[in-house]
Amino acid sequence: MKLAIAKEVEAGERRVALVPDAVARLVKQGVEVWVQAGAGAKSFFSDLAYEEVGAKIIADTGMLWGEADVVVKIGALQETEVYQLREGGVFIGFLNPLANPALVQRLADRRVTAFSMEMIPRTSRAQSMDALSSQANVAGYKAVLIAAAALPKYFPMLTTAAGTIRPAKVLVMGAGVAGLQAIATARRLGAVVEAFDIRPDTKEQVQSLGAKFVDVELKEETVATGGYAKELSEAAKEHTRQVLTQHISTADAVITTARVPGKKAPVLVTREMVSQMKPGSVIVDLAADQGGNCECTEAGKEVEWNGVNVIGTINLPSSMPVHASETYSKNILALLQLMVKDKELNLNFEDDIIAGACVARNGEITNQGVRDALTAQTSAVI
Ligand code: NAD
Repeated sequence: MKLAIAKEVEAGERRVALVPDAVARLVKQGVEVWVQAGAGAKSFFSDLAYEEVGAKIIADTGMLWGEADVVVKIGALQETEVYQLREGGVFIGFLNPLANPALVQRLADRRVTAFSMEMIPRTSRAQSMDALSSQANVAGYKAVLIAAAALPKYFPMLTTAAGTIRPAKVLVMGAGVAGLQAIATARRLGAVVEAFDIRPDTKEQVQSLGAKFVDVELKEETVATGGYAKELSEAAKEHTRQVLTQHISTADAVITTARVPGKKAPVLVTREMVSQMKPGSVIVDLAADQGGNCECTEAGKEVEWNGVNVIGTINLPSSMPVHASETYSKNILALLQLMVKDKELNLNFEDDIIAGACVARNGEITNQGVRDALTAQTSAVI
């Protein structure tokens, strides 16, 4: 089996899908690993480091994409790359399939067997393959560092000869993987942290990290299948905003991480709420790529709104490419252990992880949610 590690081409993407340590394991198992020349350079893994563990460096992009049995990536798959994939080949990577079902259709049209890392089931057995979590951890950590660097104040409480400094107040909205990591990081920096999520389970998790949970009593079901959040009704969204207004107005830094799979991010912080914040405060919006949790957010930009600095981050994991690549690499390696037998590709669709992550096969979209998303997009266009 020939496995290819593609060089990421998206602007600002610095990660690589497999690092040399993981390649060494695959080579030992008899997999032939091809690395696109320079694929690891931006995450500080040289071509030489890959060669030393037995990989082949391939400069010819057409050959790498067109002849490999399996191609792995971490950054978004580009339209042009779809057509470079060999018909009948296998692709593994982030495909954002619920937001971009048309791309999955094109993969199906090329009879590619496509695995989406977003669709790996969130089960205990699949924990080592959970790339959403490995990358969200990086994003949550980095978001707090960005907020701390942008805030014109200390995060911790300090008692100095020049007086006592009060700790910064941080509000984290959305307590999934990124939010919990943000809480832990802000606590480590000494801030006083409050957090909020619509899923009731998160209350205990927030409190166990030493943060105060902001209780917003919601009188509707907030959890969907798979443990993800449901989109709230307009009335519940309004109620949430009312309860949160006071907490937002007293916060020095607000980190927003709220997402609903396949939907636009919920607006949790309106312009009016931002206007009530103290000048010099900071908002770091991790949902900027899905429309943003703050109405003032501009994706990929830092904007000032009444003296409040609103930072719309994009692809934060890429800003810490060494650990982001190493952890993603472990996720991919764990998944490949289910896919490779006796040096050959052996896809067992009876396995819930293989079946769950597969979004296209035999010319068809195999995931009902992705099929529904495609139908919804197509009817919206008509
Ligand atoms: P995510 O990135 O989809 O969303 C981030 C957070 O935003 C979630 O906690 C969600 O509840 C919250 N949110 C959505 N709408 C909101 C709103 N209107 N207001 C406030 N918060 C809102 O979430 P995630 O980090 O990927 O986690 C999703 C689920 O997967 C969680 O239940 C998590 O515990 C679970 N999970 C399970 C495993 C595992 O078992 N292996 C691993 C990781 C995560």
